[in-house]
Amino acid sequence: MNKYIKSTLIALCIGLVIFAAYYWFTRIPDTIVESNRITDIYNYIAPNEYNKDLLVIFDIDNTIGKPPTELGSDQWFYAKVKQFELAGKNIDEAIQLTLPELFHIQFHSWMEPVEKDTVQVIKNLQDKGVTVIALTARSLELTQRTIEQLHRMGVYFTKTDPYECPLTHGHGHGKAGLYIDGIIFSGNHSKGEMIVSWFNQIDYRPKKIIFVDDKLKNVESVEKALHNRDYPFIGIRYGHEDELVKKFTLESVAEKEAAFFAKHPFEGTMIEGAVAAH
Ligand SMILES: [Mg+2]
Repeated sequence: MNKYIKSTLIALCIGLVIFAAYYWFTRIPDTIVESNRITDIYNYIAPNEYNKDLLVIFDIDNTIGKPPTELGSDQWFYAKVKQFELAGKNIDEAIQLTLPELFHIQFHSWMEPVEKDTVQVIKNLQDKGVTVIALTARSLELTQRTIEQLHRMGVYFTKTDPYECPLTHGHGHGKAGLYIDGIIFSGNHSKGEMIVSWFNQIDYRPKKIIFVDDKLKNVESVEKALHNRDYPFIGIRYGHEDELVKKFTLESVAEKEAAFFAKHPFEGTMIEGAVAAH
């Protein structure tokens, strides 16, 4: 081999090794942890980090709140979708058939906090100046209702959210996402895509992010989407409701469901793919 090429190759290899070592030792490690208690969040915040540079993002369903019974819960929704799929519908049809029922239940019921400490934890963070927002996959049809349900529990994301005006994302490809009153509704987009879009539209830049969600895929989606950051990310996969979710069956709420729809008669209509519940 030509001596020149040989020494160039060696230099290149050494360069690559140095770059890899530099990258490995200087990169900000991501942390994804499991937790069943919302107060565990305090374990990941140093005393000097209680300020606006810390961004704490909460998922809503099965993280902050849940219905008083499992009727209308996340697990109920997915079981219903599965039931329609087993009956021969494709996934989109199954979701479109389930959503009107979900909306109807949500419009006639409140949420309760997942843990007795949940609301206080959010308030504590806000009182100490931490930037706190919510990031939910709930349908945009539930925007105002979600805000009402959160207020009823004493949860206000307008206290320390960094942007006052509504923002949207994703017009033209799938249902748009929306940021309003400190809550990002992800529409048909991944939570990761939404958080990146949100950062692109506002001036606020955190120095650290903590994201709490009961679904690992959401924690990973946000973690991956923010991979270019130069600040730490802590994802908390929150499992307080895991047992209930695991053992849930539609039969277990069948009586409550029948009683609910007897009390609140339901008619759903489909309008060009969008769903309207009466
Ligand atoms: Mg959730």
